[in-house]
Amino acid sequence: MKYQVVWFKRDLRVEDHRPLVEAARRGPVLPLFIVEPEWLSSPDFDPSHWTFVRASLVELDRRLREMGQGLVVRYGEAVDVLRELPIEQLWAHEETGNWATYQRDRRVRKWARETNTPFTEFAANGVVRRLKSRDGWSRNWEARMAEAIVEAPGRLDASVEATGIPELAIAADRRSLAQRGGERQAQETLDSFLSGRGVRYHMEMSSPLTAESGGSRLSPYLAYGNLSTRQVAQAARRRRAMIDPAEPATWKRALSAFDARLHWRCHFMQKLEDEPQVEFENFARAYDGMREPHWNEEWFAAWKEGRTGYPFVDACMKMLEQTGWINFRMRAMLVSFASYHLWLHWREPALHLARLFVDYEPGIHYSQFQMQSGTTGINTVRMYSPIKQQQDQDPEGVFVREWLGDLTDYPAPIVDHKEAIALARARIGAVRKLSGSRAEARQVVKQHGSRKRTPARKKASAKKKPSDQPSLF
Ligand SMILES: Cc1cc2nc3c(=O)[nH]c(=O)nc-3n(C[C@H](O)[C@H](O)[C@H](O)COP(=O)(O)OP(=O)(O)OC[C@H]3O[C@@H](n4cnc5c(N)ncnc54)[C@H](O)[C@@H]3O)c2cc1C
Repeated sequence: MKYQVVWFKRDLRVEDHRPLVEAARRGPVLPLFIVEPEWLSSPDFDPSHWTFVRASLVELDRRLREMGQGLVVRYGEAVDVLRELPIEQLWAHEETGNWATYQRDRRVRKWARETNTPFTEFAANGVVRRLKSRDGWSRNWEARMAEAIVEAPGRLDASVEATGIPELAIAADRRSLAQRGGERQAQETLDSFLSGRGVRYHMEMSSPLTAESGGSRLSPYLAYGNLSTRQVAQAARRRRAMIDPAEPATWKRALSAFDARLHWRCHFMQKLEDEPQVEFENFARAYDGMREPHWNEEWFAAWKEGRTGYPFVDACMKMLEQTGWINFRMRAMLVSFASYHLWLHWREPALHLARLFVDYEPGIHYSQFQMQSGTTGINTVRMYSPIKQQQDQDPEGVFVREWLGDLTDYPAPIVDHKEAIALARARIGAVRKLSGSRAEARQVVKQHGSRKRTPARKKASAKKKPSDQPSLF
């Protein structure tokens, strides 16, 4: 017997899963997840990613079994695994992943072509494959988000033996306070955000003290597809349409700020989709060589281990080690500190944070990292002062004490803030003045730049202030 094989990747759910629905319409389904050795050995992988994925798979398997056919988990290189399966037709969502999954997808497509195996991939979110131009991208995003949610199939014929979800012999997961994966947890997180936690979202997102509960906390669920972006966008829009006049007036602003971030999610991922090499290379090549000769291993170690002598930076790193999550502004501050204060090239710090983030999403991660490091050539350079951030976001020192204790024997700052920032400004300024930098920047805007320019963004970028909004990128 041959099967309709549904290959689950970063779409670990049964609701709003078009490949599953289309496959189920055509014949007996073999739901497949492949544990790829290349994933487990890649430098951006962390055991906490597997913990999240494993919990998601357990939940997925439970839902699939209720329908009649549990999950099949195989270990191996994707083409080797697929070659062994009796496939009538292969179904999947498109993935905007790292270089390894990009290359693997190319190998799978080549194999499918050569073996005449029908292989259908559906768009996973607002990211457009083989995009010709950014013009009209937002309209397309809106159209995708408005598409009807597809319900999980009612029944799957039991046709193949489910394998259960394996334990892997990999290093221990050290993030004891991380969010737990699964479609149910994802839905509960969405519900609690829209029914209460989110009411002051736009006011609570900047401080790590308030964002922990005031932010949606949906990032790992979106990263591994426990929820689709469309499910979240539609739920938020339904909520917005139902705001009761008796409810706090802040809801409206909270929900539009949230909606904007779902848009940014795909906007940033589109950049990696269009130019996968930005995982390794500067968006603007004029910045090549700017930081490389200045690499300082000791400073990198101090940054990673949370002993820079700047309590707010160090506390953020400590929180990340335990929870795998921190809010946007603190991520930006951590990167700004590594890139400007310590003048470290972004690649190794990006890998370190990729391993720390349970919500690691390559498309957002590398685009954001380069933006916060000043290597896109087109953004306002935002250098965060860790001292000012602490005054603004943790004036009583509550957050710092929570993660660093009472600061006895606390190290002195490894660099002087004012001197480091002045030097970084001079260095960046020198590259910006180079002939060719402007022309390259215009090219980056043309290929990757947002076509939107909101008043809030204009104001923030004119003032070069730290902001929770990305600038024109
Ligand atoms: C250097 C750096 C690296 C980052 N790496 C990642 C990453 O690997 N994975 C990841 O999911 N987010 C990343 N972000 C974006 C952002 O910090 C997180 O999405 C957010 O903190 C997650 O918390 P939340 O779900 O409560 O966010 P909310 O504020 O509730 O936002 C809702 C969702 O919108 C998306 N989103 C929010 N802010 C942004 C943004 N600025 N750009 C793009 N999408 C956004 C996320 O999917 C998020 O879950 C990064 C930011 C920076 C500065």
